[in-house]
This record gives sequence, structure tokens and C-alpha cells, in this order.
Amino acid sequence: MNDMGDGTKVVIIGAGPAGVAAGITVARYGLAATVIDEHDTSEAHSADMPPSISFRPHTLAWGLFPDNQVALYADERAESLAATAVVVATGGHERAVAFPGWTLPGVVNIGEVCGLARQPGGLAGKHVLIAGTGPFLLLAANEVLENGGEVAALVEARPSVAPVELVRKFADSTPTSDMNNPEEELRRRGVPIYCQSTILSAQGDAGITEAVVTQLRPNGQHDPDATERITCDLLCLHAGFCAAVELAQMVGCAVEYNVDSGGWHVRHDGEMRTSRDGVYVAGRVAGYAGHEISIASGRLAGLSVAHDLGAISAAEFTEALEREKATIDALRLSSCQINTYSAMESELSSTITPDTLLCPEEGVRAADIDLAISLGARSFNDIKRRTRCGMGESQAHICGPLVSAYVAHQTGVSVESVGLMTARPPIRPIPLIAVAALDQQLSQS
Ligand SMILES: Cc1cc2nc3c(=O)[nH]c(=O)nc-3n(C[C@H](O)[C@H](O)[C@H](O)COP(=O)(O)OP(=O)(O)OC[C@H]3O[C@@H](n4cnc5c(N)ncnc54)[C@H](O)[C@@H]3O)c2cc1C
Repeated sequence: MNDMGDGTKVVIIGAGPAGVAAGITVARYGLAATVIDEHDTSEAHSADMPPSISFRPHTLAWGLFPDNQVALYADERAESLAATAVVVATGGHERAVAFPGWTLPGVVNIGEVCGLARQPGGLAGKHVLIAGTGPFLLLAANEVLENGGEVAALVEARPSVAPVELVRKFADSTPTSDMNNPEEELRRRGVPIYCQSTILSAQGDAGITEAVVTQLRPNGQHDPDATERITCDLLCLHAGFCAAVELAQMVGCAVEYNVDSGGWHVRHDGEMRTSRDGVYVAGRVAGYAGHEISIASGRLAGLSVAHDLGAISAAEFTEALEREKATIDALRLSSCQINTYSAMESELSSTITPDTLLCPEEGVRAADIDLAISLGARSFNDIKRRTRCGMGESQAHICGPLVSAYVAHQTGVSVESVGLMTARPPIRPIPLIAVAALDQQLSQS
């Protein structure tokens, strides 16, 4: 591997658009880069990554430690990689929406619908109900129609669907077909569109067969008398993304919450440096929404790494920095709009009943959270201690945002004040035997 001859290594966690752009940038300045991803991402394969970059797919980064040791797990083996600089570009996951029946088979998120669309005939003949909020709903409807499915209805929690300019900006970077006016296209094809509405419940035995749509009042509560039943065999939900901040949080990087940045994200100095020396962020983790801005922030992170490690001249850095910052500034407004358009956390909690599962992995229902609240719990960590929510395999990926929004809705406090779950290694379960072997290996060396 081509490094500076002094063992300098840049480890980039995440091979989405942001991580790949960061990897290509640091490699351009002669730094040894390792790009890690727990999946085998198409982004990494379609990008022009120089051979000097070591790409390690199917590798989970399960811990990040203060001396920039990155703990990895792949092929049933744990290992520790020493890094001079780390770029955390771990993206995010879709925010769940809860109501009675949301855990039935056939209730999916948009990522899963896109997965089905890629399988030949995966969506053919399906009656798909699309619900939630934001520009993604119109993109998903398009995806379903293009792949032989039917859109039973589109249900948007806001008073209107996302404006066409926003959908277009979001779709620009993907090969989605006719994006002239997706709302008009849906209406032309007779798809019912319900605005200021949400899902009250889903029914079915082996899988969803029907959902009830209800109107949201301006005060964010739903109207139990304004309902309609819709037959469907797939219910696709989307309510924005949550950034995967755990690794950055674990190493002590400051995180902050604001709606413009999609909720929780890692604080950075505008040049992608976090509050911890040697740790940088890019993409969704840094609060950006969209493909192009993620790439630009990845390049910016790569530049800052190259600058801080002395691999780029001051003049070259300044010039390239201004270029990337200008790109980000030009894209910032649509990134903020995408984030704010999808922010309906508290409103989407109004259809939760005491029996609704909020942490399916640990079997925690809304009534359990209510009990914890009545005993004084207000923070996520406190709720977790009293109910076990967040202790399942996904480590609060699914229930974290749901429970925080529910606590905010029930108590009137802000989602921010409920806080995040404390992040501890491993961020996802890995076999103890692998960690023990690593421990032995480290103590021998
Ligand atoms: C189905 C779908 C469709 C989308 N369509 C559009 C669109 O049309 N237009 C648009 O602008 N945006 C779209 N987006 C959003 C867009 O993907 C994001 O804005 C962008 O991908 C964010 O880039 P990123 O590099 O920050 O994160 P991501 O692309 O999410 O990449 C993060 C990577 O990090 C890896 N990772 C995470 N944690 C770990 C770990 N601990 N160890 C190892 N690897 C890890 C993940 O496997 C992932 O590959 C879409 C998203 C989805 C899910």
C-alpha cells in the first residue's frame, strides 16, 4: 500500500458516496486509505477507486477507540486497525413509523421496496400503499409503478406532498425515469393522494391485507372519525433518515440535534473535523441529505485529512477547499429542505396505542414506556434501563427514534432533550469468542 512511509493510515468507515469520495481524495494525495463497509456496496464498485485503496467489504467496524484504533469484525475474526486519521461516513437508516400492526409481514421501508424493485418481478402485481412524509414517498411511488406494481394510495403527513423541485433535486443523482411532476403523474394514473394524513392501523394474519388511513389535525393529533380503509399487500413507510452516529459518539465526538440536519448528527467545523483530533465525518453522519452533497462532503473530509497530515500544500488546500465549500453551499438549501420536510417525529406518534410495540426486538410496548415515564424517566437512557428498549440486535436503530419521539409526544419535552442512547462497543452483536481471541492477540503483541 502506498503510504507516507511512516505508517500513516487513513481508515474510512462506510463505502457510501461520502466514504468513497473521501477515500479517492486521500489516495490522490498519496495517503494509504482503507475503506471499510459491512456490506458490499455498489457505490464502491461503481466508483473509480484507485488500486492503492484497500477496500474491505463485509467488514463491520464495531468499535472506535480514543487512540484511533478501529475494531473490525469479518470472516468470524475480530481485529484492530491502527489509524492516523479516521473518517466516519457510516450514513444512516430510515426512521420507522409505529402504529398498531406496523410489525406485520409486508410492512416495509423504502430501502426494502427498492430491493424488491431490483429483483425481476419483485413488485409485479403488488398493491403498495406508501405512507410517511417527504420527497422519498413520490420517488417510491415512481419506483413501484415503473416495476409493475400498483400504488394503492400515497399518504403524506404534511398538508401537501413534497414540492416537485425538491423531489427533482433529490432524484437528480439517480437514474429514476420521468421526474417531470411525479404528483401529477400519480393523479393522472388515478392514484389517491391523502395529505395531512397518516396510518391509524394495519390488519392481516400472515401479512398485511388492509390499512386504515386517518387525518391529522393541525395540532398533530389524529382524527379518529376521519378514516378510510385501503386494501394493500405491501405498506411502504418512510419518515426520513437517522444518522448512524454511534461510532463517532463512542470515541467522544460531540453530537448535536437540529431539524435542518435531520436530527442527531456529528458536530463538525465545516471542514468535516469533529471535536476529536484525527476523527472526521462526511455525508449523512454530518447532517447532509442527498447524494451529491454527501460526495462533496466526502471530498472535503479527504482534503482536510490530507491537509492535517501534511500531504497537501497550503495553496492547493485552500483552492480545493473553496471549491468543495462552494459546492456544499450550493446544495445546502435542498439538503436542509429534505431534512425538514421529513421531520414529523412527534405527529407520527399520535396513532400509537398502549399495545403498540415500540421496541419489537425486546418486546417493549408503548404502555411499558408510559409506565417508565410515570416513574419519572425522561431520557432515552433512563427508559432503556427501566424497559430494556434498545438492547436488541440493532442497538436502538429501530426503536431509538420511535421511543424518543413517543416520549416527546407524551410529555411535551423536545426530542432533543430525550437524548441518544449511550454508544458502547460492539455497536452490533459479534461473537464473544472473536473478541476474546483479539484481546489475547493484543496482550501478546
Ligand atoms: C433506498 C434509498 C434510495 C435513495 N435515493 C436517493 C435519491 O434518489 N437521491 C438522493 O439524493 N439520495 C437518495 N438516498 C439517500 C442517499 O442514499 C443518502 O443521502 C446518501 O447515500 C448518504 O451517503 P452516505 O455516504 O453518508 O451514507 P450511505 O450511503 O448510507 O453509506 C454508509 C455506508 O456505511 C456502511 N456502514 C455503516 N455503519 C458501518 C459500520 N459500523 N461498519 C462498516 N460499515 C458501515 C453502510 O453499510 C453503508 O454502505 C437514498 C437512500 C436510500 C436508502
